[in-house]
Amino acid sequence: PYPKDIPADVEVLGKSSWTLLHSIAAKYPEKPDTKRQQDLKQFLTLFGSFYPCWFCGEDFEKYIKKHEPKVETQDSFGKWLCEAHNEVNVKLGKPKFDCNLWKKRWKDGWEEDP
Ligand code: FAD
Repeated sequence: PYPKDIPADVEVLGKSSWTLLHSIAAKYPEKPDTKRQQDLKQFLTLFGSFYPCWFCGEDFEKYIKKHEPKVETQDSFGKWLCEAHNEVNVKLGKPKFDCNLWKKRWKDGWEEDP
């Protein structure tokens, strides 16, 4: 009756967190106003600082400091986030994702198989 994954492990937490972040990118405005852009940057920093896997969050915060989030448009943010995710993929020995496909994966969906 009760879920057994309490507390959530790094993998479960990671997968659901990436789903949240990429979905935020998919709903982010095409042309956000300055306030929205500033809010997103602040959100990302706070997300890193509250992320409940401390070493993950710390690395994410470092990444943000080194690579300023590209929050000017939906596409620039989607690609920036994809690159941030790829940095973690590389760290974990996972394959890199093709960032030209971020919108297909997280917004529009894949085309039907022929
Ligand atoms: P995930 O990496 O969770 O990806 C989920 C899905 O996203 C994939 O199936 C794929 O369809 C898609 N995807 C994959 N790459 C990309 C991309 N670049 N862009 C867009 N979509 C993509 N784990 C650790 O062990 N150590 C860490 O330091 C660490 N840091 C993390 C930092 C953050 C901010 C987050 C959110 C997670 C972190 N994780 C970390 C968790 C880790 O990234 C994975 O989420 C976890 O290992 C589960 O991986 P997965 O194979 O299920 O796919």
